[in-house]
Amino acid sequence: MISVEEARARVLALAKPLAGELVPLRHARGRVMVTDAIARLTQPPFAASAMDGYWLAASDHQPGARLDVIGEAGAGHPFSGDVPAGACIRIFTGAPVPTSGGVVVLQETVTRAGETITLAQQLSANDNIRPEGQDFRQGDTLRAPRVLTPRDIGLLAAMNVAQVEVARRPVVAVIATGDELVMPGETPAEGQIICSNSYALAAMIEANGAEARILPIARDSEASLRLVFDLAKTADLIVTSGGASVGDHDLVGKVAADLGLERAFWKIAMRPGKPLMAGQIDGVPMLGLPGNPVSALVCAELFLKPLLGVMLGVDLSPVPMTATLGEDVGPTGPRTHYMRAQVSAGVIRPYRNQDSALLGIMTEANALLIREKDDVAREAGETLHYLPL
Ligand code: AMP
Ligand code: MG
Repeated sequence: MISVEEARARVLALAKPLAGELVPLRHARGRVMVTDAIARLTQPPFAASAMDGYWLAASDHQPGARLDVIGEAGAGHPFSGDVPAGACIRIFTGAPVPTSGGVVVLQETVTRAGETITLAQQLSANDNIRPEGQDFRQGDTLRAPRVLTPRDIGLLAAMNVAQVEVARRPVVAVIATGDELVMPGETPAEGQIICSNSYALAAMIEANGAEARILPIARDSEASLRLVFDLAKTADLIVTSGGASVGDHDLVGKVAADLGLERAFWKIAMRPGKPLMAGQIDGVPMLGLPGNPVSALVCAELFLKPLLGVMLGVDLSPVPMTATLGEDVGPTGPRTHYMRAQVSAGVIRPYRNQDSALLGIMTEANALLIREKDDVAREAGETLHYLPL
């Protein structure tokens, strides 16, 4: 059995970054921008007032000075003409200033009588003017790769970039296997359970910038599996769950091999998730996840997300953090154990029941405590690594 690290390296090697595509800015949030965006203009394009008030030449900015108001500038409505010495204009936030070498005094600091203002005795040193290009200049770049946030979208819009090149969303075929499974919303017959894996996996896939296609449930027969694998042919990635251990009904490995799977590995030294399988069918990466819902999700965190990251051109590998153990834990066996745990204020406590079928605890947990394989017992107060969920 190979280690988690070795398995991850082999999984990451299964895929390449997908080509880019142009999308309108309105559809770019959350997408991975793959080429630098270049500002098509300078912002602000002109020196502008940052306040509502009066613009005057710096030489007229004297305590108690009286000035004639000879015009007005508003946002989108510049003042055209000269402002002679001893005069000023009414100006509003965002309006271009008439020339350089002036100041904007705030309206609340002047006394106005008719068309004349009187400046205060105490003057501010602040000119209340935003210089041209203070935010960015034409030709400045927003660097790729990056997952575009709403803030990025605002900046790109201000840069007058109407469309951006983003990584194509990987299309992931999600295949559940098992005679016992029915879809949510159906009424399970005796002995049947609901197929939760496809839903959880599709949600994770979509939360990470890819597109999930939930295929019909494959039954535990070679014919049924073949049929559903055939539907997955055009995907960028095939993810199965269940049927991957060594039971009589675990046919995924066999059928995938018949279809030409080049196996990167099968079985890995981790808990939960030992029967994980990975490889390529006809150049399409395939991940065979275990059927137990928690095992499937933990393996997806550790392997599926980073693999999507490769296709999207961003690092989606989980980043271990450290926390103090809140209680004693025993020694581990020959597999690295990812224990469902609660971390709070830097203290981590694993749940007592680590059964890999318990989605309730998986939902409550906010961390996977990493217990390295062949580790000794650890005491409360020691520092260990965990993955946030
Ligand atoms: P398997 O790997 O097929 O032996 O499945 C292991 C366990 O996971 C069994 O109890 C299955 O019923 C359960 N299981 C398999 N696939 C799913 C699924 N899609 N949703 C929920 N449970 C599943
Ligand atoms: Mg099964």
